[in-house]
Amino acid sequence: MLVRKSVRQRFTPCDSISRLMESFRLMCADAIRIGLAADASSLKRLSKLSYGELKRYDDVPSYYKLCAISRAAGILAARKKSIKRGFPTRNPYPSKPLLVSCYRFRIEGGSLLVPLGDRRFERIQLNSHTLDVLSQQGVAVRSFTLSGHSISLCIAKEVEEISPVQGMVGIDRNLTNVAAGNPGRVTLYDVSKVVKIAENTRSIVRSFRRNDARISKRLAGKYGERRQERIRQILNRVSKRIVTEAKENRQAIAFEDIRGIRKLYRKGNGQGRGFRGRMNSWPFQELKRQVEYKATWEGVPVITLTTEETRGTTMYCARCGERLQGPIRGDSTRYRQLWCRRCERWIDRDVTAVMNISHRGWMRFVQSKGEGEACEAVKGNETRTLILRVDASKLSRPTKT
Ligand SMILES: [Zn+2]
Repeated sequence: MLVRKSVRQRFTPCDSISRLMESFRLMCADAIRIGLAADASSLKRLSKLSYGELKRYDDVPSYYKLCAISRAAGILAARKKSIKRGFPTRNPYPSKPLLVSCYRFRIEGGSLLVPLGDRRFERIQLNSHTLDVLSQQGVAVRSFTLSGHSISLCIAKEVEEISPVQGMVGIDRNLTNVAAGNPGRVTLYDVSKVVKIAENTRSIVRSFRRNDARISKRLAGKYGERRQERIRQILNRVSKRIVTEAKENRQAIAFEDIRGIRKLYRKGNGQGRGFRGRMNSWPFQELKRQVEYKATWEGVPVITLTTEETRGTTMYCARCGERLQGPIRGDSTRYRQLWCRRCERWIDRDVTAVMNISHRGWMRFVQSKGEGEACEAVKGNETRTLILRVDASKLSRPTKT
């Protein structure tokens, strides 16, 4: 199976690159204009229609023209799709500097050599993280994309999907923690810092007293970016660890379908403003996105259970199936714990959810693959669950192997 991902680093374009980017942007805009006029969005038709017109950019190598047309075709196709789905769509126009190519570039001596035509190249130093990713076994660079402030390399490699899969890691995303594991072992990653960061940013932005909308917008943007970066880092550590462990134990990963979660916390639902803000600032989708792309890259299968399949994951005991009972109101010592009458014990709400998600994910997996006997392995695990608690903000980076 061929898998792709991209690796990105910061970068400031020099003059010759900036000129090339500007030409590329204009070529892209031309191709889009032509495509819109002729209602063409397939690459083949768009090439036929616009290649002749792009001849006037005579200082740009022809392979960039092909890439600009291909880029335009992509944008037009996306527009067509949006219209089909009934979203209001404006005529696209690339307004930011851009350069994309899958031809004639080289990685050499730790640098990306961007072709300028006439066998001239511009050398861009790659940082250690990028080089580290590129040095992984079997990785090939397919294309590069330069924007005004970053450079992104699309890389691909051949990977074997894990087979046979020997278990299922369920993932439950909560406000202050991410729980991952199966009935034998559950890890609770404490991500309460994510909530704190979001809250801090909100209060900082709220404290601006300047009357200038432009300045406060810019400041809010700056703090928003910072927040996103910090939150992303925390989630990165969690997702990396989840995927690494799943790969080591030859397990697949199961998510709940939480589409519609934002609808639960809207104005008029009888919740406080702060609570809604907290719930809605949690990057549920970002964690899933990270786990998904990391897992695909490592050959770890990921499935998403439907809402039908995950109904009541926190309502029934993962061990005996008995309906669980909440603690008595006001009993703060039993925070997020539930009582199972049959097992006669208190169970952590998040741990129960993970065990159930893992089990249901496994059932789906077994049914779709027809691996009947493998099902017993999970059921045999009904001993004590090992619960690990990890502070996600202090997770060390896993050592390289
Ligand atoms: Zn029970």
